[in-house]
Amino acid sequence: MVEILYLAAAVAFIVGLKQLGSPRTARSGNRIAALGMLAVIIITLVTEDVVNWVTIGAGLAVGTALGAWFAVRVQMTSMPQMVAAFNGFGGLASALVAAVAVVEVDLGSIPPETSVALLASLIIGAVTFTGSFVAFAKLQGILPGRPLLFPGQNVANGLLLAAMVGIAIRAGVRAEALSYWTVGGIALLMGILAVIPIGGADMPVVISLLNSFSGLAAAAAGFAIESNPLIIGGALVGAAGLILTVQMTEAMNRSLANVLFAGFGSGAATATDSTIGERPVKRATAEDVAIALRYAQSVIFVPGYGLAVAQAQHALRELADALEEEGVDVQYAIHPVAGRMPGHMNVLLAEADVPYEQLLDLEQADPRFAHTDVVLILGANDVVNTSARDDPSSPIYGMPILNVDRAGQVIVVKRSLSPGFAGIDNPIFYEDKTLMFFSDAKAALEETLKALKEL
Ligand code: NDP
Repeated sequence: MVEILYLAAAVAFIVGLKQLGSPRTARSGNRIAALGMLAVIIITLVTEDVVNWVTIGAGLAVGTALGAWFAVRVQMTSMPQMVAAFNGFGGLASALVAAVAVVEVDLGSIPPETSVALLASLIIGAVTFTGSFVAFAKLQGILPGRPLLFPGQNVANGLLLAAMVGIAIRAGVRAEALSYWTVGGIALLMGILAVIPIGGADMPVVISLLNSFSGLAAAAAGFAIESNPLIIGGALVGAAGLILTVQMTEAMNRSLANVLFAGFGSGAATATDSTIGERPVKRATAEDVAIALRYAQSVIFVPGYGLAVAQAQHALRELADALEEEGVDVQYAIHPVAGRMPGHMNVLLAEADVPYEQLLDLEQADPRFAHTDVVLILGANDVVNTSARDDPSSPIYGMPILNVDRAGQVIVVKRSLSPGFAGIDNPIFYEDKTLMFFSDAKAALEETLKALKEL
């Protein structure tokens, strides 16, 4: 009976994951998966005879209070940090499960497969713990966001990895507790060393990978303590995290190895163009933008990282509503890596209740640009950078972009000619059909709405 209930919970995880695939069903997917997890916890607590209810109650109260506090307080732009912290705690939990086993179990009497599972849980959990908190510190500005590089870094990391594997084999074969602790210590260090050479803007990819690791650590802990739901839940997190990581790197046209080892954003790998800002651009005012939008038949908004920074999603929705009242056809084109985390723009626009049917992904948007009168780019840069399409020497060459230059007119809202995450100039700013409206995205949208009403 217990196993059947566990199976039902596993089905709930999978249905939940499936529903998370669309904004329309994501909320219910989240609830279904959470209910599955709650059911597993209750069944485990009731059927396993090892529970100290006071400890469990205290843990539950502290965890719930902290989780609720974070969820209510966190800004949308700080979401990647929060996920990093949660992953880190997940990794720590798995490492602690292994540590308790090392202390309490007679290591000489456990079968080889259990010691492999224990070591995997300890290593992956410890790497995930420190790696996630370095990612957290980089995004929070506690550590510098730029890649921290030193000569021979990859070689040193490789040697440390080899030493860890060697000592792990010794720990398993000789059943030595000291070797287990040494392996755990090296793994904690490896988590730090693996993440410091990665630039702050690549942290979402790293966090997604560490999320996958936290699942693998949990699955390994599940093997060690023979818990089927932990194995299933961990494997699902491991697989989902890995798929997301691959999708993010593909959308940036970079390999995972390039994200992890190339020190992207250190200046060495990124060609920050010293000629930025030297060529002339056409400037626009709020009135110019209001006129262009008011007399267009179709408008596509392209939101980017700057829209999130400015928290301009509600102002955007208000402007879109006003345009629709005037009979303008309004849509939003969302690039898969716009912003700084997967689904960043979808979440932002959903917050402002933008109708889902107006959201276009890369493939849907592409054929429409040629039939669109005005494209309004809001704090996006790299995702509309035509050098990714036209210039084989560009560091982002090959990254799929939103081909906004095929529209009748392009208006770019940003504060200056500063580059985006990739650190490179954008030819679209200097095109004949482009107007630059230099402003904070929220202020620009509010001023444009005001000007629109006065027309
Ligand atoms: P970019 O980082 O390319 O550009 C953002 C632009 O926003 C900047 O040029 C900046 O210009 C402008 N900006 C900043 N603040 C404001 C503001 N308050 N008001 C108006 N504009 C502002 O953003 P994109 O969304 O186009 O591209 C995302 C980048 O992040 C891609 O290179 C992607 O590969 C990378 N990335 C994305 C991940 C994801 O999961 N989404 C993960 C990892 C990396 P200015 O300073 O002049 O205002």
